[in-house]
Amino acid sequence: MSGEYVSMAHGAGGSAMDALIKRYILTRLGGSQAEVPLEALDDAAVINSIVFKSDSYTVKPLFFPGGDIGRMAVAGTVNDMSVLGAEPLALAAGFIFEEGFPLTDLERILSSMNETCKEAGVAVITGDTKVVERGGLDKFVMNCSGVGRRSPLLDGNLHEVRKFRRCEAEWLLDSNIRAGDQIILSGAIGDHGIAVLSAREGYGFETQVQSDAAPLNHMIVKALQVGGVVSMKDPTRGGLANLLNEWSEKSKVGILVHDEKIPVHTGVKAACEMLGLDPMEVGNEGKVALAVVSEKAHEVLDTLKSTELGKEAEIIGRATEEFDLVAVETLVGGKRILPKPLGDPVPRIC
Ligand code: MG
Repeated sequence: MSGEYVSMAHGAGGSAMDALIKRYILTRLGGSQAEVPLEALDDAAVINSIVFKSDSYTVKPLFFPGGDIGRMAVAGTVNDMSVLGAEPLALAAGFIFEEGFPLTDLERILSSMNETCKEAGVAVITGDTKVVERGGLDKFVMNCSGVGRRSPLLDGNLHEVRKFRRCEAEWLLDSNIRAGDQIILSGAIGDHGIAVLSAREGYGFETQVQSDAAPLNHMIVKALQVGGVVSMKDPTRGGLANLLNEWSEKSKVGILVHDEKIPVHTGVKAACEMLGLDPMEVGNEGKVALAVVSEKAHEVLDTLKSTELGKEAEIIGRATEEFDLVAVETLVGGKRILPKPLGDPVPRIC
């Protein structure tokens, strides 16, 4: 780890953050008997069948095309619980303000949280408010935590998996994927990171690119109703590149994806080309990747496509035993390794 201080890369969702968590946090805070413990580094934890998640938000600017910190916080926490196979029950919100923060901005954030809660069908039931002196913080940061319960659809979903292959896991964990599973992506990548970056720096892409921040729990329910889903994860910081590498590492399986199958909107493509970014590494806040047994993949895909949030879904690749890393195949058949990014190329997007 470079130096003795925290750097921006340590919060960017890639290998630098991974090293910080493993070296400093897991050595001191791990060791519980939870069903899905801290050490699993999954999207949420499970203890006594209660799904539990905590997430902090430091996005800059607080308001951006397609969303704001409040919408992201509710959606992000709901999504991290939902991808494990949980039904979100309730949220907690912790706010930290810099002295002088405009109360009209607070009203906007709270209204947006309220709307997003209604979309997801959850409510904030507890919270906390703190203020630090001017200069002690950049305007406003917040935490959103949540509890959820096992989805009543999860057993039926896993039953569909077990018709076709062994699966001992009781939750949709990062370590569940096996060779042959198909990888589905619910829609286009890079919108959130580019929208936030463009709003921050004034690049002008915001006319074309809007954040995708959205709660995905209702769409996920539809996929679980079909069944055969073995794992789900949202490609947030570090983007799809980080997600696929986490799956590959934890499931000890190779993943091959096809470049031309990965949806990227024109505005994001243009922005990434101009700024020298890889859309695969840019964060999203309203997308989910699903690993599905191949026998059920097309049915799950069609179901996702029938929803508003999943209408651009694609089968982007598959898990394989041929190698043990993540590779991207181009249209002409060339393959390149897709490494785990050091971190998201765009800082403070969530
Ligand atoms: Mg996640």
